[in-house]
Amino acid sequence: MTTRAATMTTETVTTSDPPIRTCVGCRRRRPQHELVRCVLDADGHARVSRTAPGRGGWICGVECLDAARKARGFERAWRVRSAADAYDRLRDELN
Ligand SMILES: [Zn+2]
Repeated sequence: MTTRAATMTTETVTTSDPPIRTCVGCRRRRPQHELVRCVLDADGHARVSRTAPGRGGWICGVECLDAARKARGFERAWRVRSAADAYDRLRDELN
């Protein structure tokens, strides 16, 4: 008779694990609370909000904005053709 060891690793997903999001700039995966959520609202205005409806993109902060612009991170996150204005607007909001 073999005893199969029931391994309980730290990789076991529990409900208390924080949600993980990927920064649209540096592409690093971090817990949601370490990132800022940027939303494109129905009028096409970008803003920083955790609760606003709409498609969200996550970013570490203003330091990742340039990388996000180059990588077209928010265009990808929001599935829009161009978010050029959004980067300038978010720079103000994140500062
Ligand atoms: Zn980042």
